[in-house]
Amino acid sequence: MKYMPKIAAVFWILLLLAAAAASPASASRVVSNVQTITKWDMLWDTARQEGSLPAPPSDQEEWETIGSNEVAGNKPSGSSSAWIRMVLPELTAETPAILLENIYGKHVIIYKDGIIVYESFRSYNYEQNKILLPLEREDSGKRLYIWADSRLDRLGISGEVMTGEQRELLGIMIRKDVFDVILGSAFILIALTLAICSIFLFQPNRSVWLSLCTVIMAIGVLVVTYPPFLFTFYREYGEMYLILFDMALFLLPPSLALFFEQILGDIVYIRRFRKWLTFYSIACFLIMIVNWLTMDRYYWLYYGVSVTLLGLQLMALLICLMVASLKRAWKGDREAIILSVGFACFAVTSVSELFWFYIRQGHYNLFLWKWGVIGFVISVITILGRRLAEKHRQVVQYSQELEMFNNELQRSEKMEIISDLAASVAHEVRNPLQVTRGFLQLLSSKEEEGKNKDYLKIALEELDRASNIITDFLTFAKPEFEQTKILHIDDEFRHIEGIISPMANLQGGKISMEIPEGLAIKGNSSKFKQAFINVIKNSIEALRDEGQIHIRAYSSGDEVYIHIRDNGEGMDAQTLIRLGEPYFSNKTKGTGLGMMVTFRIIEAMDGRITFTSAKGIGTEATVRFPAASSDSAPES
Ligand code: ADP
Ligand code: MG
Repeated sequence: MKYMPKIAAVFWILLLLAAAAASPASASRVVSNVQTITKWDMLWDTARQEGSLPAPPSDQEEWETIGSNEVAGNKPSGSSSAWIRMVLPELTAETPAILLENIYGKHVIIYKDGIIVYESFRSYNYEQNKILLPLEREDSGKRLYIWADSRLDRLGISGEVMTGEQRELLGIMIRKDVFDVILGSAFILIALTLAICSIFLFQPNRSVWLSLCTVIMAIGVLVVTYPPFLFTFYREYGEMYLILFDMALFLLPPSLALFFEQILGDIVYIRRFRKWLTFYSIACFLIMIVNWLTMDRYYWLYYGVSVTLLGLQLMALLICLMVASLKRAWKGDREAIILSVGFACFAVTSVSELFWFYIRQGHYNLFLWKWGVIGFVISVITILGRRLAEKHRQVVQYSQELEMFNNELQRSEKMEIISDLAASVAHEVRNPLQVTRGFLQLLSSKEEEGKNKDYLKIALEELDRASNIITDFLTFAKPEFEQTKILHIDDEFRHIEGIISPMANLQGGKISMEIPEGLAIKGNSSKFKQAFINVIKNSIEALRDEGQIHIRAYSSGDEVYIHIRDNGEGMDAQTLIRLGEPYFSNKTKGTGLGMMVTFRIIEAMDGRITFTSAKGIGTEATVRFPAASSDSAPES
């Protein structure tokens, strides 16, 4: 089961590779009798009168020969339309047709034999036309006259022109655009999913997600509405696509800046730029409405503001954001590195394509940037995922810490009560004991030598012992030691071994020690022994067959470490947590006080004790004390 995530990751990578290999960019076209027309003639139409249908001009006019991928010369003033003349090649296909991948123009008419065979007119400002026109075999060598009209900048043929089997051309016509539509729709879907998920988030996470889903949504809409696909096959909503495209274009720059601000933190120039872009986008939106209401009277203004200027600003913004994220990445910020890589795909492809678009005066169809966008979207989603995972890890860690503190608190509260109770009881008992001792001493001094005198002596001794026990108990309850001195760890453990070895032998266990000379701490000798005897006793009691207890000490930094490891039955997590609680015992004859006393003593000596244990494997207690230099004078 634990290999599942790895297998899934490999599966995904393979899937992505397969998708990349199958994408239209790398798909080789299986073309049989498709022929490409690479040359045609062009003539600016200056003779046309408004309202009348154009008629194909004569051959005496000065036609200009143009090759495919060549930009036509400058449009003469006063002319908004042009003629294109092309000679059809030998048509061998069964049902021949011609595919014009892209003709610019709002109004396009095609003539064959002086008759109109195709006409398309758009009332809105979308100039790209993709035309598939059926022909006949007899049309071989004939001339086709195309008339295109547009008040916009671009006119003429920009894509490829092909003749061939109609079915095959239809495939070519759809294939490229369908990819855009699928990609764009996928982006829109991702954006919607993010938007829905963000409902369940709190600030400031939510604003990061919302700005990102605005960015992805805008890109998705741009990708879907840019190619002629929707305009060709769902032409009735053309105007809506256009408005959507423009709005997405206005929304993209400010939301992109906002998203970067939230990922990279507040950066002054990006914040200022974002404010300006917001203002600019609103202005564009208003001009769009005015232009729309006045039926394109201010189109020149709108075009300048929303295409030329906005595009330049978008380029500037992309460069700014790239610089900002690279700077951050340079400092080693992981998120910034991921973001930079993803964003570089996007920024480099789109800036260079926009640049090319301007150089070619709009005669260029942007396509590379879409691949850049995919890289960008993957990187930002990775960042969001990482953030979520990190938050989750923190929550788990906090709750674990909380539980630990809670246990600690309970333990110390109990200890407080116990020690108060113990102290007061011990104190109360000591007084009557002292009084009794006084009277017994009095009696003993008056008593002649004899049996009674012996009894009184024993009674006095026993009273002293009881008093000592109470004193000890008081120090357990409030272990502030009156007598502290330098303890040599090796000496102390030699004594401890003497006491504990017989017990270990009884259980059939072995104790091994690895304690170098010269380790010293400050503390009270008998308390120190008491604390470690309790720990080692527990280890001995936990031993099974071939029991072994290993004790080792060393110094590290300015601390002395003592490890006591056994291969006994071990403890489960529940026991580990409750360890040191008064009266907590899993043994039938246990008091449940051993660890409590040990904890108190070690704490009072400024030490720390921790346990690690695994059920069935063993337990290790690690104790550390601040080191004392072994040759300094003992203090009291
Ligand atoms: P007691 O020994 O009287 O039961 P302690 O406070 O010394 O009380 O220990 C509490 C409990 O912790 C024990 O009952 C035992 O279950 C568990 N324990 C302590 N040390 C070990 C150890 N080394 N191996 C296994 N269990 C241990
Ligand atoms: Mg014990």
